Amino acid sequence: MKLNLPTLMTTLFADIIIPLPLPQLFTYRIPTIYNEVAQERARVVVQFGKNKLYSGLIAKIHSTAPEHYQAKYIEEVIDSEPIVTEEQLNFWAWIAEYYMCTIGEVYNAALPSGLKLSSETIILPHPDFDGDFRVLNDKEFLVAEALSSSENLTLKEISDILSIKTIMPIINSLIKKKVAIAEEDLKLKFKPKIEEYVRLTKQCRSEDVLRLKFDDLTNAPKQLELLLHYIKLSKWHSEQPREVKKVVLYKQADSSLAQLKGLIQKEILEIYEKEEGRLSPFLKEELITPPLNEFQLKATSEIEEGFKQKDVALLHGITSSGKTEIYLNLINKELAKGKTVLYLVPEIALTTQLVNRIKKRLGKVLGVYHSKFNENERVEIWNNTLNQSGYKVLIGARSTLLLPITNVGLVIVDEEHETSYKQHEPSPRYNARDAAIVFAKHQGAKVLLGSATPSMESYLNATNGKYAYVQLNKRYGEMQLPEMVVANIAEAQKKKTLKSHLTPELFHAIGGALERKEQIILFKNRRGFSPFLKCNQCGWIPECKSCDISLTYHKYKNQLNCHYCGFASHVPQTCSACGSRELQMLGYGTEKIEEDLEILFPNNSIQRLDLDTTRSKNAYQKILMDFENGEIDILVGTQMVTKGLDFDNVSLVGVLNADDMLHYPDFRAFERAFQTLEQVSGRAGRKHKKGTVIIQTYDPNHTVIQQLIQHNYKGMIKEQLTHRLQFHYPPFTRLLRITVKNKVDSVCADHAKIIVHELKKNLKSEILGPEKPSISRIRNWYIQHILIKFNKNMNQPLEKVALKNCIENLYSEKLISNSRVNLDVDPY
Ligand SMILES: [Zn+2]
Ligand SMILES: [Zn+2]
Repeated sequence: MKLNLPTLMTTLFADIIIPLPLPQLFTYRIPTIYNEVAQERARVVVQFGKNKLYSGLIAKIHSTAPEHYQAKYIEEVIDSEPIVTEEQLNFWAWIAEYYMCTIGEVYNAALPSGLKLSSETIILPHPDFDGDFRVLNDKEFLVAEALSSSENLTLKEISDILSIKTIMPIINSLIKKKVAIAEEDLKLKFKPKIEEYVRLTKQCRSEDVLRLKFDDLTNAPKQLELLLHYIKLSKWHSEQPREVKKVVLYKQADSSLAQLKGLIQKEILEIYEKEEGRLSPFLKEELITPPLNEFQLKATSEIEEGFKQKDVALLHGITSSGKTEIYLNLINKELAKGKTVLYLVPEIALTTQLVNRIKKRLGKVLGVYHSKFNENERVEIWNNTLNQSGYKVLIGARSTLLLPITNVGLVIVDEEHETSYKQHEPSPRYNARDAAIVFAKHQGAKVLLGSATPSMESYLNATNGKYAYVQLNKRYGEMQLPEMVVANIAEAQKKKTLKSHLTPELFHAIGGALERKEQIILFKNRRGFSPFLKCNQCGWIPECKSCDISLTYHKYKNQLNCHYCGFASHVPQTCSACGSRELQMLGYGTEKIEEDLEILFPNNSIQRLDLDTTRSKNAYQKILMDFENGEIDILVGTQMVTKGLDFDNVSLVGVLNADDMLHYPDFRAFERAFQTLEQVSGRAGRKHKKGTVIIQTYDPNHTVIQQLIQHNYKGMIKEQLTHRLQFHYPPFTRLLRITVKNKVDSVCADHAKIIVHELKKNLKSEILGPEKPSISRIRNWYIQHILIKFNKNMNQPLEKVALKNCIENLYSEKLISNSRVNLDVDPY
């Protein structure tokens, strides 16, 4: 809100959000010249710390001076309009409070860096400066001179030139005297793209004049040809004329600049410029919308019925039951009401097939937000969202939730059980699925959670009546659930019937599918063994220098890598401990499987899909396309093969080792294993034909394996819930994990103990630890974990305040000074 206070003589202050983890907002004084301009929720440049400039956000304008410090002046006002909405700011405040971080951290995470001023601010010579140095004092002169010879300087460089620290007064003075400008780089960071267009000059825009001009051009046939091309491209005389880009005209007419210049000189054509959006809108294709089948219709009306009573609905629909069509149906209804829709997906890069499908159906009202977009694209999406003229539906991963979206009617969280909705590093460590529910509340919108294997939290909320619960148990079309087969690895090992890592069951099934010209997906969990080296003589294993973890062998690069810090080393020929040459490769990953398959099935094409093979920009799409076109027979991959891929010709899915996932030290291991394996199983099966899933395991009688082969999700949930209740784990409690880091192992342990001691005195909650995690050193920082369990009937906000106070006191008493402490709310 802009304040309507008398501007003369009024001293105004602004509370500023600075993109740093600061516990509170800072109050700055608004220079009177900016009284009219400064607005809440708009950016300003402020100085914070020594010579550091930041683009802060005005949270509030008022006329109360801060009590304990002298307010500094705001340096510059960047926006004349708010760039953040009121709802957005309220939502950010909620994230900061619930996830125990600062609003500055949320602001920092939300704003594309193209909209942020860094401390690396560049000072440029003012374009209007006439070179009259007489108005400057000595120091100003030095800077001005340096500027005129080097074009631009950072604040650090200026500080070096003057050999003083406090340079802002000098910079300010130079800016006032129009010798330098500082804010310019903020604008430079986001450059709108200017495109040149061609059109007829005003006098030529009539048939008669144009006809005369044609006659004039008979002795310049090339120019005539170009003009005719223009007429054709522009459809100038039709009812729907089109704008013609200069480059397009060249390309189509196969002509040169000289001919265009000729036509411009003759005042037939002219050039004009237009600011071009970098993101060209998606073209809607006139597709025949597949009608919803009776089950989808029933589910849709149940969701709508549910929304009359409740804010959240859980759509529990088995794989390939056609959930996306239900979403699209509901989206169109929201659009008809003039509302916007937010559509969250777990990892946008891995949902290409889905996004392409939605693009075609929704066309230009769809915006896609993507962490792989460059800064300019992100700024453009931000602006388009803010001015509400562009997108009506936004699809994207978790950070889409932080955009300036308003007027939302529906939030869809697809694959709501996915772990990638949770951000772990850096702060804010929020879970977008949970935050979406609060976001929707702020907007007065409804939330639809969708999954084939809902998280326990959502399932419990749905079955105890907090959410509406809608089931969809029929696969779309004539697809059937696949047949599930368990293959015993231990038995095959005993009988010596293993071929590489394939049991006879899987080996023969692959052979059969290949013979029938059907495709195969093989899945190897990335949490499983990675290949590593081991000395046969003394047992030495090469480990990372900075982390507590063994190095992984990468054959294609022939090197050892640390998966935590990226450290790389060559493969040693001899043992570093005993000098033996007997180094053995242990464990196996997707690379080894691919290699073995090439030997076992030499006439077939085999491709790997994992982090290594998809590093380059379009590699992932290329592999999927090749697979879709039948150029790949067997696709071997990690978690990537489990997500949202639908291929018509896949009849067999093989899980190479289910045990990797089951024997993992995490209370959610069974739930996660079931979800992942059910998800990957869903890739098998074609229209009219039942697919097969073969699960290899050492433990065929394991309850989760048994539940899986019967697709018994509810059985799994029921059993797991009993355990969770018994051991006080979510969804019956809420967890908070404290991570303590220190460069010295023993100090880390001591500080963690001090924290636990203090917490036990001040908190009512159950406190576990400290404990060394399984990887207890990363990048040379030693780690200790403390776990807090909030009981459901406990006042969580109060406990959090008490926790915060404890940590702050320990810091101010210098008891844990050189340790870093991170708080992670709902860490799993
Ligand atoms: Zn490392
Ligand atoms: Zn050795």
